[in-house]
Amino acid sequence: MAVVKDARVPLIAGNWKLNLDHLQAIAFVQKLAWSLKDAGHDFDGVEVAVFPPFTDLRSVQTLIGADRLPLGLGAQDVSQHDSGAFTGEISGAFLKALDCAYVIIGHSERRSLHSETDEVVAAKTAAAIKHKLVPVICVGETADDLEAHGPAAIPIAQLTAALAQVPQGSDIVVAYEPVWAIGSGQAATPEQAQTVASALRSVVAESLGADVAAATRILYGGSVKSANIAGFMRQSDIDGALVGGASLDVAEFSAIAQFPKHVGV
Ligand code: PEP
Repeated sequence: MAVVKDARVPLIAGNWKLNLDHLQAIAFVQKLAWSLKDAGHDFDGVEVAVFPPFTDLRSVQTLIGADRLPLGLGAQDVSQHDSGAFTGEISGAFLKALDCAYVIIGHSERRSLHSETDEVVAAKTAAAIKHKLVPVICVGETADDLEAHGPAAIPIAQLTAALAQVPQGSDIVVAYEPVWAIGSGQAATPEQAQTVASALRSVVAESLGADVAAATRILYGGSVKSANIAGFMRQSDIDGALVGGASLDVAEFSAIAQFPKHVGV
């Protein structure tokens, strides 16, 4: 499929997971903004977004708004329900009211630790879109899947299922995150990530049409660092990174976002 990578603004997304309370979050986001500005970051050229825990969102929203920080804000999960007797759940409407632009859906930790099925991921994806949040749909194979089926089969099946209820023309982000690469220090090779990203773009094309596929950002996630981001960003179907551990280090996350300085293309 012909794609125009230059038309897609790269996204560097920091998934904080269960780290940093709301006070720590304020200090962190201030430092991140200073670090990026000091480095002369081109905020129009590379979008940077943070995904704090739910309890931090209001504080980070207020800081971003008050200081007009050019940072995106997202949540790490969303309920498939809008409201009602669902103790502990957070509605997409609530996230939208906090100016969240994005929400991570189907992270491997939600799938494995919270038993989220493809059907739940599809329902959450639909809920995000209903509330005008851009879903960052995570897919990826385990080490066993990799051995049994190769790298692409499971991510393709997961993405196909996630898009089942997504209306044509929707704005989505896809994150290819091999489970064996998350937090392991062992990233996929850029070539392997590109092979899967290209296959995932074809899934988007089949489900949502060629125009949406050409506009959709596909991220790589799994042990991304400033030392390896360039290899991923040189790939034609990789449009950014979903960063876990390294997103908690201001200097390192800022350096990842500065990838155009060391991509060399
Ligand atoms: C993640 O959890 O989404 C992730 C990619 O983690 P890490 O960067 O630490 O591998």
